[in-house]
Amino acid sequence: MNQQEKQKNIGIISKVAGPLIVAKNMGDVQMYDVVRVSDKRLIGEVIELRKDMASIQVYEETAGLGPGEPVYQTGEALSVELAPGLIEGIFDGIQRPLDTIYEGHGDRIPLGIDVPKLNRTKKWTFVPTAKLHSHVLGGDILGYVQETSVVKHQIMVPPTLTGEVEWLFEGEATITEAIAKIKVANGEVVEVPMLQRWPVRKSRPYNKKLAPHAPMITGQRVIDTLFPIAIGGIAAIPGPFGSGKTVVQHQLAKWADADIIVYIGCGERGNEMTDVLMEFPRLHDPKTGEFLMKRTVLIANTSNMPVAAREASIYTGITIAEYFRDMGYKVALMADSTSRWPEALREMSGRLEEMPGEEGYPAYLSSRLAEFYERAGFVKCLGSSDREGAISAIGAVSPPGGDTSEPVSQGTLRIVKVFWGLSATLAYRRHFPAIDWLKSYSLYSDTMNDYFDEHVKKGWSKQVQKAMELLQEESKLNEIVRLVGVDSLEFSDRLTLECARSIREDFLHQIAFHEIDTYTSVDKQFGMLQAILTWYQLSQEGLTEGASFAKLTSMAVLEKIGRMKYIPEAEFVKAHEDIMNELNTEYQNILKGDDLYA
Ligand code: ADP
Ligand code: MG
Repeated sequence: MNQQEKQKNIGIISKVAGPLIVAKNMGDVQMYDVVRVSDKRLIGEVIELRKDMASIQVYEETAGLGPGEPVYQTGEALSVELAPGLIEGIFDGIQRPLDTIYEGHGDRIPLGIDVPKLNRTKKWTFVPTAKLHSHVLGGDILGYVQETSVVKHQIMVPPTLTGEVEWLFEGEATITEAIAKIKVANGEVVEVPMLQRWPVRKSRPYNKKLAPHAPMITGQRVIDTLFPIAIGGIAAIPGPFGSGKTVVQHQLAKWADADIIVYIGCGERGNEMTDVLMEFPRLHDPKTGEFLMKRTVLIANTSNMPVAAREASIYTGITIAEYFRDMGYKVALMADSTSRWPEALREMSGRLEEMPGEEGYPAYLSSRLAEFYERAGFVKCLGSSDREGAISAIGAVSPPGGDTSEPVSQGTLRIVKVFWGLSATLAYRRHFPAIDWLKSYSLYSDTMNDYFDEHVKKGWSKQVQKAMELLQEESKLNEIVRLVGVDSLEFSDRLTLECARSIREDFLHQIAFHEIDTYTSVDKQFGMLQAILTWYQLSQEGLTEGASFAKLTSMAVLEKIGRMKYIPEAEFVKAHEDIMNELNTEYQNILKGDDLYA
């Protein structure tokens, strides 16, 4: 028992209901404070207060607890620790370091275990960059630690501190040792260590929220071209089991234009978490040639933790993401999946005997979802510099039975700006990524297309619009084909079907596991689509000139267009030029009739 605990009243358990316990004599506790339950010292969080009765969500197995046992107050809100040691870390939902725990205890976490969230003994080399005697604001950078080969971890003045830098350290220090002394307004000198604590349920402050203006390029063609996400944007990937949610999340983690990855795994099945723990550390970072973990923080809920912990993991993850955003980084946060978290809310709400909303979820489900996604965005960081930072948040949603009319999917869709809807039918046909082009959307499209027109290729947005039109036209024509057969269609409509097929198979279809296909630059994306659409435009013109449908649709160059995705980036410009020339020549030959003798 520490000093703080002694000063506070000791609560007494009056009721235990699964992960929820109710305790009395808790009058001086605050909402969201952490408490230690019973002499097993299980970690709990106060989620409801009525006079001196507190309802406590317990993050560990409560079997065997009973009325009369003590509840100790810690006087602290559920918080994360922010300092060097986060990157490459693997934590559970309440930031307990799983790797350290496994080393000491194997894969079952001992109840009530007390391990520091971040390593206290490791020495980091602190390099000061602030000026001595300068006036600093909360959020200003004091110096940095080269945390891994790819991440420079900026050490910032804590958000609530302002004053004059009296002293700066240089050299090796642990995260709790002072690296600066700051003289505040009343003359007092505050020692600042690298370690900061922040309550997870409170968003970290920034100077100003800015409108997202640039795309977060992912190298995934269906995403960048048809349904782009902005840097600082929010997206949802709903889809049934096996439709490719995790593969999309991994692809984004590897390829998206982001400095830091925060990956929250809230597994659907027990063994899925083991997959994350096994797989993620093995992923290579194509940008640096190192392991992806060198710029990743992994949060994983183990299957032996109660569902309540899944709720905490979402908050732990976003708070860590905010901290790196504050340094001026582009952070991408993936949550796979976000569906277990509302289930935890539902369970707790039921036990609290609250009035249930739709399908038993609490009425505040949508506001909780909104509060979470609201913490993403593109901002001007706290402090006196012009630093900008961003969190792009991408949540997978796994509705039971794949039915997106359920409350979690619906609640999420009302908030996010990008919807990549995965289709079981496409996945079954092995069209990957199984993002349904007829159902998906991006509300950033207009802004992003302007950006692409200006910074990538003039004509980008026209091409995208044309491709979308053709895909929509295809679905209408398919209805007719189903009724009366393809022969009843005009040749021009049959060209449309051919072109749409090419857009789907040659462009949208993208194999994550293929060495070259796995990533496509936006220039290459433009070039690929340009070839397909140019063929279409020429062929439509050709038809009116009397060229034969059969010849137009069996041009030799079509095969090359179909294989464009496998052309390495370095060879693409030349190959694209050749293909466009060949396309024109072949087309001219058809018009002249020369191809008969070629
Ligand atoms: P979910 O997370 O929705 O249950 P997964 O992401 O695990 O689904 O995907 C299931 C399987 O689908 C993968 O193991 C893989 O074989 C295939 N798959 C999904 N997306 C792709 C892709 N882009 N390229 C190739 N295969 C894919
Ligand atoms: Mg999955």
